[in-house]
Parts: sequence; structure tokens; C-alpha cells
Amino acid sequence: MNLDELVEKNPILEEYYHDGKYDFSSTESQCLIAEAYLKAKFLLSVQLDRTKLCPRIPNRLSYLHWCEHGASSIDNYETRDLVIDIGTGSSAIYPLLGAVSYDNFHFVGTEVDPESIQHARNLVKSNNLEPRITIKDSLDSFRPQFPRTDEKIRYTMCNPPFYEDVTDLYKRSKFKNLKPNELASSNSEMFYPGGEVEFVKHLIDDSIELSKEKPEGVQACWFLSQLGIRASCFAIEELLRHRKKSRKITQYHIEKLETKESTTKRWAVTWSMHWWRWPAERAKYPVAIDVLVTYRSLYSKLGKEIEAINNFNPDLECIIEMGNDSFTVKATIPFWVRKMRRAGLRREKITPTVRCIISVTSTDISWIHGSDYQHFYSFCKLITELNSDHTRLGAT
Ligand code: SAH
Repeated sequence: MNLDELVEKNPILEEYYHDGKYDFSSTESQCLIAEAYLKAKFLLSVQLDRTKLCPRIPNRLSYLHWCEHGASSIDNYETRDLVIDIGTGSSAIYPLLGAVSYDNFHFVGTEVDPESIQHARNLVKSNNLEPRITIKDSLDSFRPQFPRTDEKIRYTMCNPPFYEDVTDLYKRSKFKNLKPNELASSNSEMFYPGGEVEFVKHLIDDSIELSKEKPEGVQACWFLSQLGIRASCFAIEELLRHRKKSRKITQYHIEKLETKESTTKRWAVTWSMHWWRWPAERAKYPVAIDVLVTYRSLYSKLGKEIEAINNFNPDLECIIEMGNDSFTVKATIPFWVRKMRRAGLRREKITPTVRCIISVTSTDISWIHGSDYQHFYSFCKLITELNSDHTRLGAT
């Protein structure tokens, strides 16, 4: 839906709409358009609290879709339906958008501001979303914490308070040419001692605690947070590098978020305690192949090795599964790596590695699970070689 249509359907917006441009400079104008958009696009009836931060819906949607994009890439392998939003705010915007955009999941939003908790609960109730959204108060903890649950978590998300204090806000806002006074917000939405770096640090540390307490719950969970300040990306990366080195987490990834409709710059960070791969650049390898032909030639090249490994090491997993238009390799031993192939044929006892799952379609090879990029990369090389072999053979 474009702006013209939205204004036409909601005459209340006309006051702020001139020459094809909407005036976003006041709290009232921002809230009105957000409410109209939520109604028109998602059938959500939302009355926003004018004393709190007004969520810009396109930005919120792009972050939510980014989280889902990452989490959904392993839906064929793992089921987990709970999404946690840390600091859900008075609008509970992520749970609301999540519940109406994705049918199968339910949401817990946490919050420390009593007014926001009440407002968020009212919104959930008035939209009949109580079975799918719970607003949980975190009043007993100034530091952000994940609620403890026995359920498997899909992902946790967060839009943290960005700034250390008012001075920090003015310093950065002046830099960005903003007028911070003009838009409503409350202290806990904007400020946290140490700013967003400290907030996310506390999330990282609590995620490590949580993974000790409830290892089952986080075995396919992504911990995610948005970041509003570019410099924070470096500080957070440094923190995560340390946690990875000391094996408290397994992996992390930081990315710039793209929002077509907006010029606001945002980044997002994710980390985990598992070896499912975030579907980013390095986990995808583009190809142009015939899946069935490639599957057959892979099998004819390595079938003997696979058989030898399976016969001699029954505890190891070493399979290629053919699906409709893709095949999947699941292996606790990367049988396509030369050293492993030889060991398999010589019937040596082999120590398993982290399970490698790779899925092959006609257009790309996806690394789904595993800890060693070299294993994935050498598999991609092999597939490319097999493909060029039969392209060459086909041509002669
Ligand atoms: N998610 C909303 C609000 C983000 S502002 C949105 O995107 O619009 C950050 C929110 O985190 C505020 O509502 C603030 O009250 C909340 N918050 C601050 N400290 C918190 C803590 N320790 N636990 C949970 N929420 C917290």
C-alpha cells in the first residue's frame, strides 16, 4: 500500500501530508501513520502511547524479517516455536507483528517499565492475541535477562536502549543532525548505563548462563540484537570474539540491516551455542547443476568410501539423502575429504567431527550445520569438479 492510498483511507493523516510528502517530525504524526498502517496492512487495532517511543513500522518489519529469515533456514531440521523479545516496549511491536505475520509461533515480550507493561498487555488483549503473546515483567532485574522456560527457543530478539545518557544522545544526535527533543520517549527506552554495548553484553552473558541451565532450550536458538550505533558493532564483535575463543559461544555474525523505505542506519548481531549456520554469504555457494546427475556421480565417485565408513564405524553418520529437487548430505565424518576417504577405505577407526549437513539444489549448495568451513568448501569444490566433468563429457 502506498502513502496516497493510506492517506485517502485515513483522512486524519491529511494534515501531515503535503505534496506527496508525509511530515514525520512530531510524535502525533508518527503515531497516527503507524496506527493507520498497522490497521491497513495487518488488521491490528493499536492505540500507541504518546509518551513513549513511536515504532517506525518499516524498520521494525525489516529487523523481524531478518530474524525470521535466519531462523527459518533450519525449519526442515528443527522445530522450535517460541520467540522472545527483550524490552518489548509499550507497543509490543515485535510480538504483534510477529504473531500476525507468522502463524506458528508464539511470543514472550519482557519489559521493565510498569506503564509500558500495562499498555502492551492491553494491546495484546484488545487484538485477541493473548493465546500467542505473553508480556512478562522483568521488574526484579535492572539488567536484561532471558525468561527461563523448558520450551525450545526459536530466537530471542531485542531493540536495546542505544545511549548511555542524555549527553551521549545529544553528542550522537547532533552528529546525525537530529532534534532529539521533538520526539517523545522515556528514559528506559533511550538510556542504559554503558549504552547498547553494555546492554547487549549483559544479554550475551545471560545467554551463556541460560545455555548452561537449559541446554535443550537453546540447541537451535539464535540470540539476536539490533544495534543503533556503528561503533558498537566493533565493541560487540570484540566481546563475542573473546566468548568464542573461550568456547562459551560457538559462532557470531554482524550485519547491516537494509530497509528500503528508510534512511535510518541499523545493524544486527547474532550469536549462538550451536553449529547451525546463519544463512549468510559464506554458507551459500552458487552453482548451476542437474541435481540428479550430480547426485549419481557423487555416489559413483564416493559410494565405496561411504559404504566402508558405514560398515566399519556403525556409530558414525554418513549418508546422502535424495529429495524431490535437492539432495542432502549428513555426515559426522566428511567422507569427501581425502584424508577421511583413505581412512574409510583402510577401515581405520575414525573420530567423528561436528555433524556436517549440506543441502544441494540446482542453484546453490547450502551449509546447514557444521563447524569447519574447509569441509563445506571442499565439498563445494568437489561438486563443481563433478559438474565440469560431465559438462565436458557431455560436450564430447
Ligand atoms: N521493542 C520496542 C522498544 C525498544 S526501547 C521497540 O522496538 O519499539 C527498549 C526497551 O527496553 C524499553 O521499552 C525499555 O523499557 C526496555 N528495557 C530496558 N531495560 C530492560 C530490562 N532490563 N529488561 C527488559 N526490558 C528493558
